[in-house]
Amino acid sequence: MSTLKAVRGTRDLLPSETGLWNRIEATARSVFERYNFGEIRTPIFEDTALFARGVGEETDIVSKEMYTWEDRARAQSEKTQMLTLRPENTAGVVRAYIEHKLGETGQLQKLYYIGPQFRRERPQKGRYRQFSQIGAEVIGPVSAGSESPMRDAEVLEMLATLLDELGISGWVLKLNSVGSASDRPAYIAKLKTALEPVVGQMCVDCQRRAVTNPLRVLDCKVPEDQPFIDALPKIADSLDEASRAHFAAVCAALDTAGVPYIRDHRLVRGLDYYTRTTFEFTHDAGLGTQNALLGGGRYDGLSELIGGPKAPGIGFAMGEDRLVLTLLESQQAKPALAEAYIAPLGETQNAAALELARELRRSSAGRPGLRIELGDGSFRLKKSFEAADKVARAIVLLGEDEASSGILTVKVFAAGVQSKVPRSDLAAFLMAAAT
Ligand code: ATP
Ligand code: MG
Repeated sequence: MSTLKAVRGTRDLLPSETGLWNRIEATARSVFERYNFGEIRTPIFEDTALFARGVGEETDIVSKEMYTWEDRARAQSEKTQMLTLRPENTAGVVRAYIEHKLGETGQLQKLYYIGPQFRRERPQKGRYRQFSQIGAEVIGPVSAGSESPMRDAEVLEMLATLLDELGISGWVLKLNSVGSASDRPAYIAKLKTALEPVVGQMCVDCQRRAVTNPLRVLDCKVPEDQPFIDALPKIADSLDEASRAHFAAVCAALDTAGVPYIRDHRLVRGLDYYTRTTFEFTHDAGLGTQNALLGGGRYDGLSELIGGPKAPGIGFAMGEDRLVLTLLESQQAKPALAEAYIAPLGETQNAAALELARELRRSSAGRPGLRIELGDGSFRLKKSFEAADKVARAIVLLGEDEASSGILTVKVFAAGVQSKVPRSDLAAFLMAAAT
């Protein structure tokens, strides 16, 4: 019988990696809380129409990457419907915003999410079919300030803080404005005219996009097409006065706050709902061509597109898998060691060792308690030492003498010294040795 394996493009995360994943998520939650965001959890599958209308039929995601199936009715009262595993989370968040009438609170909604997304892409380093995104959205009625460039600046400043706190140095923020619903048509018309004479020499995807969605031509990655694309008109020259002022205010606020960025005229992002500000944070360590850590932008018309009230917003989605790769590459990821390994000397000490481990794990010396690995009395001393050295900073020997005297033998590996420590001081001693 052939053995079953994880499906192509999906993978298991084992404890050697999940420690880092959890640290990233804890850091993200802590930053989001300080900026006063609350968590939202939307379903992993949604009505296909949400993505078709929200993300856009002509995007790569909707045209070829979604996991969609016909969900057959199981009862007369149900209807058969087309469902899709979410390829991104913004559309789901905006659907929830509309469904729960969050706009009626009159308040700005500041929501973050952490969870799996699904796209049928060609799997490679940093690109999977199930991957995880950490994202946030700021959305609300115009009266709550949702349209203000300060929302954009604050989100970008928050991201700079988050990446810094994660220990990712050397990120680059690329910024652009793709204009609003009112000034974009003029640019698209210019783009179409400029593409007409050259598009025949470009890739087949660009030939298709030139007709259906010319903006998408700008993010074509085919090397031979680049000279043609560089010669196309710049969107910055087609922005109307309001969009120009909006973008200038975002840039000015970032300058004042000291958040570095570079302008990238070609940054249009791969989803149709973006308006005005678009951005990407990239990093070169470990990612190769998949160097975008996160992407985002403003989506002032998205709510209306999926049947909701006017609700301008801005958000981003960060590829958690790529954060992990970047941190692994830059050696930021040290495996967590237990504070101690308790080695019972002989099977008669097993129960006493469990009791000692319980005491240390619940000790208030380490908050919430110490991290302890429990050995086994059937191991020879040499085997206990070898096992301990792999997983812990120190080994605590518990034999008959130690049990009766209450004085334990402890060896701290980094220091290479063995000490006698009274049981009542043990937790504090181990904590001090670990820091
Ligand atoms: P890319 O150009 O890298 O494919 P994208 O434009 O498709 O990115 P978004 O849809 O904006 O990206 O998603 C935001 C972030 O999610 C990306 O910057 C990336 O870090 C991550 N991401 C997107 N697709 C994948 C994937 N298949 N596997 C892992 N991470 C992904
Ligand atoms: Mg993509």
